[in-house]
Amino acid sequence: MTPLERMAEMGHQQVMFCYDAGVSLRAIIAVHDTTLGPSLGGVRFWPYQSEAEALVDVLRLSRGMTYKAAISGLNLGGGKSVIIGDPLVLKNEALLRRFGQFVESLNGLYITAEDMGVSVKDMTYIRMETRHVTGLPEEMGGSGDPSPVTAYGVYLSMKATWKKLTGTESLQGVRILIQGLGKVGWALAERLYQEGAVLLATDLSAAQLEEAARRYKVQAVAPDEWYKQPVDILAPCARGAVLNESTIPHLQCAAIVGSANNQLADEEADSQRLAGRGILYAPDFLINAGGLINVYTELEGYNRQRALARTEYIYQALLDVYQAAEKRGITPHEAAMQLAQERIRAIAGLRVRTFHQPSALSLA
Ligand code: NAD
Repeated sequence: MTPLERMAEMGHQQVMFCYDAGVSLRAIIAVHDTTLGPSLGGVRFWPYQSEAEALVDVLRLSRGMTYKAAISGLNLGGGKSVIIGDPLVLKNEALLRRFGQFVESLNGLYITAEDMGVSVKDMTYIRMETRHVTGLPEEMGGSGDPSPVTAYGVYLSMKATWKKLTGTESLQGVRILIQGLGKVGWALAERLYQEGAVLLATDLSAAQLEEAARRYKVQAVAPDEWYKQPVDILAPCARGAVLNESTIPHLQCAAIVGSANNQLADEEADSQRLAGRGILYAPDFLINAGGLINVYTELEGYNRQRALARTEYIYQALLDVYQAAEKRGITPHEAAMQLAQERIRAIAGLRVRTFHQPSALSLA
């Protein structure tokens, strides 16, 4: 499939390929839909095996941002960008600033933020070349690392899911496995440990696992064994496409509630596979919206309490999704997509009637 055919299939508005041999920059910026407001989404720095793999990832991630913003009640569209290569080898000030120049050239159609492989400090270099950045460090008046707020949203989603399954939202004694003890996974482990959950985890870093065992009594699991463990809740917090035809048949859990974007390799088939196995799947693009809510809050002048309070919206939104899924006889993933699309259509209709133009700053 050509890039334009992929865009047409997924409903993208614009995709920009960025190249500068002088700083070894190869990047792709994808703008999915700006009906609700300017597109916003993080920049991911990752050693993709091929350009095709990077393109598929950025198209999926940006579309996910559209639905995440829509279902979270935010006035934002969906965008995302990827920088291709190993950040440990390639990342430097010049490359990040050159990337910032490409973002600036879009004149506000795309607002960038932090994602995997990119630190808060890296964002300051991008900010030197463009105003269209959010998720800046606290010392620059920004919101800092969004991960604790994302983790809070995932934690609340676990409580909502457990309530749906058992009638109680307490996670005390509940067996939970976290795949990926990175920024989100670590903050999530801390909250769950405090609540008395029984924790298992896997990560590529043995040192990280040892530290988690010491601090949060986490039982370490090998990276290729994570999906075979008997647990109550699985929390994919590493990378996308981990729920697929190879892993789903082995799952031994009641629910999946994790932060990773695009966990389902094939959204339709894999959400059906999970439903077929009686596993409740919390749609990733809703439950990991805490980070987006956090950086969105920065656009109006940051306040952590307001960001956390807004994130509490996710608890009820998830219960509403589960209810809509039951009522409509569809999976939670499909229900969340439908509710998000219904909001976008409703606001698009409003614009046609009133000639009102979108603004990110007419905040909810
Ligand atoms: P991170 O880079 O800090 O952490 C990822 C962790 O996963 C690392 O510790 C890494 O070693 C581990 N990992 C990678 N591949 C693995 C594998 N195959 N097996 C086991 N462990 C593996 O990233 P993060 O910020 O914690 O984000 C985690 C996920 O959540 C990503 O998919 C990200 O897109 C998503 N997300 C993050 C935020 C946020 O606020 N940071 C917001 C929304 C969504």
